[in-house]
Amino acid sequence: MADKGQIVQRVKGVKDILPVDSPVWQWVEDTARETFEGFSYSEIRIPVFERTDVFSRAIGETSDIVEKEMYTFTDRGGESLTLRPEGTASVVRAYVENKLYNPPGAKKLYYMGPMFRAERPQAGRYRQFHQLGAELFGPENPSADAETIHLLMSIFKNLHLEDLTLRINSLGCPQCRPAFRQKLAEYLDSRREALCDNCQRRIDKNPLRVLDCKAHGCGVIADEAPSVTESLCGECSAHFDRTRTLLAAVGVDGKVDPKLVRGLDYYSRTAFEVSSTALGAQDAVAGGGRYNSLVEQFGGPPTPAIGFAIGLERLISLLGNDGAPLGPELFFIALCPEAEEKVFQLAGALREEGYMVDMSYGGGLKSQLKQADRASAELAVIIGEEEMARSVALVKEMKSGEQFTVAFDELIKWLDKHLLGEE
Ligand code: ATP
Ligand code: MG
Repeated sequence: MADKGQIVQRVKGVKDILPVDSPVWQWVEDTARETFEGFSYSEIRIPVFERTDVFSRAIGETSDIVEKEMYTFTDRGGESLTLRPEGTASVVRAYVENKLYNPPGAKKLYYMGPMFRAERPQAGRYRQFHQLGAELFGPENPSADAETIHLLMSIFKNLHLEDLTLRINSLGCPQCRPAFRQKLAEYLDSRREALCDNCQRRIDKNPLRVLDCKAHGCGVIADEAPSVTESLCGECSAHFDRTRTLLAAVGVDGKVDPKLVRGLDYYSRTAFEVSSTALGAQDAVAGGGRYNSLVEQFGGPPTPAIGFAIGLERLISLLGNDGAPLGPELFFIALCPEAEEKVFQLAGALREEGYMVDMSYGGGLKSQLKQADRASAELAVIIGEEEMARSVALVKEMKSGEQFTVAFDELIKWLDKHLLGEE
């Protein structure tokens, strides 16, 4: 604990979402929920931490996340636990553990909430950040891939974000990927000296990752590397083509990028990413792909699946923020103890009616009116000794200064008419 009186600061790489910012967060979350519902998705709420094994098993030992980004700790019982760095592994664990594959058929799940990664904090990169994600379990058809990508793009569209780039690729399947991987590793080995240290290690462990390395030298080599798109087997190639045809039918335009491999190990076939040039170095807003073996890996029946995750901090930075939260419709001011009781009664009744109501907690008339002004209230409702004696309230329109005298019994009806235009 810090010394008494000393300001305690938040941990590096985490943020407070303050009242001025929460309306835009709520709007994004509400819009996403509505969009998910339109695609027949249901929400799943997964735990914030899991056994470490859930993530290392799913995400892959050679991924950036497992290699260096996990918040892992030993709990009091000596068990290794990890704060979730992403949602998919937990959703798959929950899908299998709760037997959500029964009854058979497609299962559509979405989640939202904080994720934790021990990364170097910088613009667009935090240690606690938020994701909103979807997973579709069951169908293997390209229509599932196309629908999932359409859902993702619909969320952006409903948020009026149209200026984004969608890139898609196919990473092949267990039939065709090993041969490509071999061919790629041989090519990379022949250029070993020109690769960064990290990528030199990746040649044997995970050569595909070299393709999306941000180091300049690696980028040049990746440009000339064998293309995964040209090494796909007939089935993967047909799957990819069909996905793109269906996307075109719904007006979604994706750019094929053979260098898009995504950082996680569990993908097969379709992979995609959405980025914005307005974001700077950390330009990815969302990423996803198909993962056909993960459910089985977690002990469930063979179940193909596909999903995506959107990074909310980056998305919200694209939206900007257009202003302060709305003030209350009514701000009650009591000028004597009996009036305070009346205020409690009236404010209670109005809150039940659905009005946005605030009140002062004491002071003279002038200071209380100043509080109503600071709160951006629409109307101040003033009750003092004189009003109590006459059973009326003095209602003041804050903007115009116009005042009305309204009987206590008439107040709800008067407000319905004055604020909502109801007769
Ligand atoms: P990046 O290439 O930026 O490292 P990633 O491949 O690690 O992203 P994913 O695991 O695919 O990211 O997560 C999906 C989305 O979550 C990203 O596109 C991004 O918008 C967001 N995201 C990932 N890591 C962070 C972070 N540390 N801080 C803020 N947002 C993040
Ligand atoms: Mg990352």
